[in-house]
Amino acid sequence: PAMAAPTTAPTPPSQPPHFILVPFVAQGDIIPLVDLALLLAERGARATVVTTPLNAARQRRVAEHAARRRVLLEFVELPFPPPGSVLPPDCQNADILTDVAQFIPFFFELRDLATPFDAYVPDDAAGDEEEEEKRYDVPGMPVPVTVTKATAPGFFNHPATLVLRDEAMETMRTADGMVVNTFVELEHQFVECYEKALGKPVWTLGPLSLCNRDAEAMATRGKTATVGKEAITAWLDGQAPGSVVYVSFGSIARKLPKQLFEVGHGLEDSGVPFLWVVKEHEVDASPEVREWLEALESRTAGRGHVARGWVPQLAVLSHLAVGGFVTHCGWNSLLVSIAHGVPVVTWPHFADQFINEQLAVDVLGVGVRVGVTSPVMLFGDEAVVVAREDVAKVVSALMGGGMEADERRKKAREYGEKARRAMEEGGSSYGNLTRLIESFSRPEPEVKEQLKLHG
Ligand code: UDP
Repeated sequence: PAMAAPTTAPTPPSQPPHFILVPFVAQGDIIPLVDLALLLAERGARATVVTTPLNAARQRRVAEHAARRRVLLEFVELPFPPPGSVLPPDCQNADILTDVAQFIPFFFELRDLATPFDAYVPDDAAGDEEEEEKRYDVPGMPVPVTVTKATAPGFFNHPATLVLRDEAMETMRTADGMVVNTFVELEHQFVECYEKALGKPVWTLGPLSLCNRDAEAMATRGKTATVGKEAITAWLDGQAPGSVVYVSFGSIARKLPKQLFEVGHGLEDSGVPFLWVVKEHEVDASPEVREWLEALESRTAGRGHVARGWVPQLAVLSHLAVGGFVTHCGWNSLLVSIAHGVPVVTWPHFADQFINEQLAVDVLGVGVRVGVTSPVMLFGDEAVVVAREDVAKVVSALMGGGMEADERRKKAREYGEKARRAMEEGGSSYGNLTRLIESFSRPEPEVKEQLKLHG
């Protein structure tokens, strides 16, 4: 009889996991761990044994024997003993030590292999392009969260900065808790998950920007705006409510002229009123940029405004004329946008911005992707990652009518309302700030008692 066709497509073969085995350099450890590496490799996993040159050489015959059976056993050699060591050069295994006095330097110098070992691990991962693009599900998250190494590189993971990463982690480990600029109504499931993972309190106190209630406070945050608040608000006042798309990529990311021109053309082609922030460094990149921006402004006079330098972003996002924001998804920008009920086009560049995009688009439903999948360098990339057609299309989608756009606007408005309530007396962030202050306030008698004790 004919066999029934499978109802689902076979799962494509996934990349095998990579196991890195680091035995202590004594036969009693190396022998069983090499056996384990063989077992892993036989079952299709990738197995690498990290050891010193002499110990790797001792395993050559095992590796050759395995290779004849088409089992690949990899060795990575970390030089040992280090230059200036008191140990003889071949002193790489406990069975070679000749003097009890050698044990102490032996252990300490082995411990120092942690640095080259750490360098090997990120280097190995970074070298493999396929590996960079591989998608990983983040375990333990309340919703499916997928990342790649390229879009979620973490902080200080470069071999040269590992020591900073470790110090930062250690400081976090010893902290009493974490203060986060968000609010529970926005992402309670992630806050709970973070609290559980940390095993200590997480105080959500935001959106912190909402503490700036009057126009003066809103306009003076960060640094002095090169573009006066009056000029910006005067221009925005002349636009219809909710009609303007605000475009800014934060304080760090810089675009080279080619990419800058695509953004400008896209905004022009969208037909949507726009307020676009171009940084001084971007304007100064070449005289051509300056001229090109002036030409764009005259072509879009009345509808487009190019602000050069630093604008009072909070004053912009809280203005009624602003109905959408093309953002790089820096957390501050995204949160302020949400706090003022403004939906977003997401164009992440680096750091945590791709994760923030997932939150805005997939979890909160307040964003639409411009469609970038890989990070760009901090100060711009020669490659044009987003073409003018894509900019025009996504800006029209954000600002136009239709069910999806209306739904994004509605959700953004709702979160904006919740953000405002969170910061008011009786709200979640207001209450958390009270609890934070209380948990660090010692009762009077205790303080007095301590003063007494310390004379
Ligand atoms: N910002 C501003 N005016 C500008 C550019 C940026 O006020 O012209 C502020 C913005 O409001 C936010 C911060 O700079 O508070 C940028 O932080 P974010 O996390 O959004 O991105 P980053 O600059 O760290 O990439």
